[in-house]
Amino acid sequence: MLNIKDLHAKVEEKDILKGLNLEVKPGEVHAIMGPNGAGKSTLGNVLSGRENYEATSGTVDFDGKDLLDMDTEERAREGLFLAFQYPVEIPGVSNLEFLKASVDAVRAHRGLEPYDSVTFLKLAREKCKAVDLNQNFLKRGVNEGFSGGEKKRNEIMQMMLLEPKLCILDETDSGLDIDALQVVANGVNSQRDPNRSFIVVTHYQRLLDYIVPDYVHVLADGKIVKSGGKELALELEEKGYGWIENGAA
Ligand code: ADP
Ligand code: MG
Ligand code: MG
Repeated sequence: MLNIKDLHAKVEEKDILKGLNLEVKPGEVHAIMGPNGAGKSTLGNVLSGRENYEATSGTVDFDGKDLLDMDTEERAREGLFLAFQYPVEIPGVSNLEFLKASVDAVRAHRGLEPYDSVTFLKLAREKCKAVDLNQNFLKRGVNEGFSGGEKKRNEIMQMMLLEPKLCILDETDSGLDIDALQVVANGVNSQRDPNRSFIVVTHYQRLLDYIVPDYVHVLADGKIVKSGGKELALELEEKGYGWIENGAA
């Protein structure tokens, strides 16, 4: 699904990723943890092709294709989805309109007809319900005035509609109360599928009680410095990151 080899990347002339390796197979859930400023969000941004995040060397194979060779839209059409740590607001564009345009673009790429408005509205309403968002959120501007928790739920709803191959969730749990966390986790779990993979970036082991990962990685100073099973998250919760960064591991 995703094979990252020796990835180096810079942002604003600053080297952030420094030889990152990661392989994600279909159906797997990988958690990425690590200290602030390690490069976790940068990894998501580089993979999604965000402006100003430049891969300088290394390779990224996404489902048999060269990911770094594609522009942002192509990556999304090919089935890459990134839920941002800080979802952007797009005032003036209705959430429903935005969702339909995104979903139809992906469908076109897959050789499918666009949804007719009635069918799509019905589908979007179902997904709203699944993430416990009021249907009014479909009429509002994209993320406009949404609370932190509502933005995160909206991202999960978008993910459900897009049916991506690879989902990258960047701190989707931060700022969520326990009920919202449960809603988000249920949303993710409902999308787990042998053909769909997840990279879940989180600071807290708590999320991983709900979204149980196959692997846990520690990203520090631009590289994966330790990998393990879900028990690694518990160890990190207990001991912090220092013991790894100090080379004691
Ligand atoms: P993490 O998500 O692990 O906390 P980030 O990937 O957000 O870390 O940041 C890694 C480093 O890259 C930080 O030093 C941060 O300041 C820097 N960085 C990230 N994005 C930008 C940007 N757009 N402009 C300048 N520096 C950035
Ligand atoms: Mg951070
Ligand atoms: Mg971050």
